[in-house]
Amino acid sequence: MSDERDEAVPHLNAEEFRRLGHQMVDWIANYWARLESFPVRSQVAPGEVAAKLPLHAPEEGLGGGEGWDAVFRDLDAVVLPGITHWQSPSFFAYFPANASGPAVLGELLSAGLGVQGMLWSTSPAATELETRVLDWLAELMALPQAFRSTSGTGGGVIQGTASEATLVAMVAARARVRRQRPGDAPLVAYASTQAHSSVLKAAMLCGVARDASDTLHVRMVETDASYAMNPEALQRALGEDLAAGRQPFFVCASLGTTSSGAFDPLGPVSRAMGDTGVSAAGGWLHVDAAWAGAALLCPEYREPATGLEAVDSFAFNPHKWLLTNFDCNAFYTRDRSALLDALSVTPEYLRNAASASGAVIDYRDWQVPLGRRFRALKLWFVLRHYGAKGLRAYIREHVRLAGLFEDWVRQDTRFELAAPRALSLVCFRLAPRPGEAPSETDARNRALLERLNASGSAFLTHTVLPGVGGASARYVLRMAIGAPSTEERHVRACWEALQRLAET
Ligand SMILES: *Cc1c(COP(=O)(O)O)cnc(C)c1O
Repeated sequence: MSDERDEAVPHLNAEEFRRLGHQMVDWIANYWARLESFPVRSQVAPGEVAAKLPLHAPEEGLGGGEGWDAVFRDLDAVVLPGITHWQSPSFFAYFPANASGPAVLGELLSAGLGVQGMLWSTSPAATELETRVLDWLAELMALPQAFRSTSGTGGGVIQGTASEATLVAMVAARARVRRQRPGDAPLVAYASTQAHSSVLKAAMLCGVARDASDTLHVRMVETDASYAMNPEALQRALGEDLAAGRQPFFVCASLGTTSSGAFDPLGPVSRAMGDTGVSAAGGWLHVDAAWAGAALLCPEYREPATGLEAVDSFAFNPHKWLLTNFDCNAFYTRDRSALLDALSVTPEYLRNAASASGAVIDYRDWQVPLGRRFRALKLWFVLRHYGAKGLRAYIREHVRLAGLFEDWVRQDTRFELAAPRALSLVCFRLAPRPGEAPSETDARNRALLERLNASGSAFLTHTVLPGVGGASARYVLRMAIGAPSTEERHVRACWEALQRLAET
């Protein structure tokens, strides 16, 4: 037996890496070219993928030669059957999770450079490029000046996800309110009943909410007939809590709710905070525009952003509808000092002259983890490749397709729209038959959705929207258009499949 301590470490050499890298890029390009040939939703049963994998890690490595052929074979045999094809042109579920050539190249480059951009000094380019690219984006979206790094008091940062953005905003809010209103009044956060679950989760992480059922410390404000937050209801809730000795500290308004794409009215929401004295106490208004934020690139879709000048932070996900693969959340705040107060800790081993000078940004103080990838590269590549014009054309085309789909739903009396169309999201369902109980209508819609998804020709998901004016809640289907490869023919084919299935 040879002495294992003498074994050479089998790194890929430059030539082998080059060859395998080219092969992998080819594989991805071929995958993208074949997207239409796969059932959109993975059809494997639980455990089916795991059953094809060895129970133990290999003792002998592959080396850089032909051994890797086995890896490529496994991609087709083991991985692909277990993939739900988010990049498929017929993927209309949830919200999109875009990937694109330029973004994938940026991701690859980030991995290749392998830097940790936690401090300016650990790779100045990572920080300065991120700052500039986020300023570009803020300008393209006509975000308030106060959100740009050039304001001196605000600026943008890339977070992993909208959930992290909400959490970071909430901890900054907590620090600011505790500073302005010292004491131990219980803190209360607010969002509409339609807000994303990440608001509640952030409150649980912050210790503001005891658990997911703690509606005393996270108040779910009722919505109006279009599922947007009712600002009078918010104002009442703020007043009640103040009167009871609790301290409102954080309001999350949604621009584009996950269920139906509703836009909370920012002006009235911030006025409710102002009128009750919550803003004066340091109370924070965060805007979660995870999906719909991308549409602010187009001037004609900016109306819902009216009132953004009054908010403390705003975040959206280029990783949803802006061609930048997961993960990439663009988070902006007008009050970066609140983030630093809440998140900055400096142990001796991170001290350095540049940070001490105050002349640089250290993004570790703007986020939960210490380490951070060079994610700005992929956003930079996307912006440079498509240009603002290309990105606007991209958003507009999806909105146009959703408009077509909306018209088709209107014209078929078996179906109905279930909420106002929001950009590229259409909520619809099979209409109730005369005398049909709501639960039967729901069951027919559930069955329709399952038949469509099982067919593999398209993939949609559902939501439940609260009843308006005493009506019962409704199970509805969501048509969320936003994959890079989606064309009119895919939307039409999906609609025709729904029509066929509706007959049976
Ligand atoms: C998708 C979504 C989120 C969650 O996004 P992550 O980036 O996965 O955390 C939050 N809020 C809204 C409105 C969303 O649509």
